[in-house]
Amino acid sequence: MTSVSADLPVVVIGGGPAGLMAAIGAARQGIHTVLLEKGDRLGRKLLISGGGRCNVTNARGTEHIIANIPGNGRFLYSSLAKWSSDDIISFFTTLGVQLKEEDRGRMFPVTNKAMTVLNALLGELSDLDVDVRLLSPVSALDYEEGGGVYRIDLHGNGYLRANAVIVASGGCSAPETGSTGDGYAFAQGFGHTLVPPYPTSVPLVSSDPLITARHLQGVSLRDIVLTLYDPRGKVATREEGDMIFTHFGLSGPAVLRVSQYAVKLFQKHPDAKLKLAIDIMPAVTREQFLENVWGRIEEHPRRGFKTIMKDVAPERLVEAALRIMGFASDQLAAEVGKKQLEALYEFLKEFPVAISGTLGLERATVTGGGVGLQGIDPRTMQSKLVPGLFFAGEIMDVHGHTGGYNITVAFSTGYVAGAAAADYVRVGRAANTCPTKSF
Ligand SMILES: Cc1cc2nc3c(=O)[nH]c(=O)nc-3n(C[C@H](O)[C@H](O)[C@H](O)COP(=O)(O)OP(=O)(O)OC[C@H]3O[C@@H](n4cnc5c(N)ncnc54)[C@H](O)[C@@H]3O)c2cc1C
Repeated sequence: MTSVSADLPVVVIGGGPAGLMAAIGAARQGIHTVLLEKGDRLGRKLLISGGGRCNVTNARGTEHIIANIPGNGRFLYSSLAKWSSDDIISFFTTLGVQLKEEDRGRMFPVTNKAMTVLNALLGELSDLDVDVRLLSPVSALDYEEGGGVYRIDLHGNGYLRANAVIVASGGCSAPETGSTGDGYAFAQGFGHTLVPPYPTSVPLVSSDPLITARHLQGVSLRDIVLTLYDPRGKVATREEGDMIFTHFGLSGPAVLRVSQYAVKLFQKHPDAKLKLAIDIMPAVTREQFLENVWGRIEEHPRRGFKTIMKDVAPERLVEAALRIMGFASDQLAAEVGKKQLEALYEFLKEFPVAISGTLGLERATVTGGGVGLQGIDPRTMQSKLVPGLFFAGEIMDVHGHTGGYNITVAFSTGYVAGAAAADYVRVGRAANTCPTKSF
């Protein structure tokens, strides 16, 4: 059945955190708002974010947040000045969601359930009478020149006409959640440039014999430091945190942070093998290590050296290091000399793994690239090319590390775009004002 709706003031495309917050931002200005989501549920990616607990934002403030958004963080100064992480925290607290701060400033609901966050957003949409339409995939977006109206095609199921449209259809990572990059074509249709999407915050792949032989699969390391080298041996990045060895390579928070640098190096040097060095004991000095292990050797000279080392570093990692360094598998503690110990210390401080690639966009946490920022006004998220068109969230060429930074981008740009779109339909322009904070 083909149907045509009457003109609508604001239509939001996409029911992720950016679209949900955009709809709230517009509706709180008293503007009738329609939210179109192609799936049968809202916030699917939000529900799996932060390990299913939803890392809603980061409490360490704007400078810290921008420093953790290596993909064009500076574009967000204006948006975060209007709708900051403090505003996000107040927003949820006012809606009855208790939040708690964990390591590195990460904020989670006290319930540890992303559903708590989503339910709060859905309740607010309902209170504001936002017209939510599920199973409504947008297939095309056109601007009716002269009419000041957008035509939004609903995939053979009629079309809508709106004065302002906010495209919040996400990137194209984890496509099973509905984010399949549909909005890129809409933006390009209006002359916006597209920075080709690439995976970020993505596990690293290794063809190193250590990995292929699966000697280390499942070994997890806490508070390590990773150093990634470029093909010329220069340090590309150094990141700290936790990691885990998998059957194909490496994953975990520190690895995801390294990955965006690896992706960029592989774009330039597709056949390179990049050296990643793991400092498995960054807080331990050479003297401390030698004194500790030497003391154990003197205490138990007839024990196997491997056994002595069990309490110093993860067993399977030590076994691998000793094998690579040519220690005999049954070497006694008393047979280990000081030179060998020093060499072992160096090895454990720079445990090398050859990285041959990354997993693809479908396994990435975040999409790098997207709608080019030179075409978007950072104060309002409005297109600089056509009036009344706005963008919010991961569809834009912005990407952060994991740690609540991407969801902060989605919420902040979403709210600012929603409020600016409401201004646009009310007064004919997206005023650069501070959105009303009704809490
Ligand atoms: C496993 C995982 C864990 C994550 N953990 C974290 C974390 O801990 N911290 C963090 O900050 N970030 C995390 N992220 C990233 C974060 O979830 C995203 O950056 C965020 O969801 C982006 O929000 P968005 O609204 O821009 O896009 P999305 O959440 O992708 O939402 C886009 C929505 O638009 C809909 N849509 C798409 N095309 C159309 C169309 N044509 N018509 C109608 N609707 C459409 C989609 O169905 C989807 O619902 C994680 C991501 C994943 C996959």
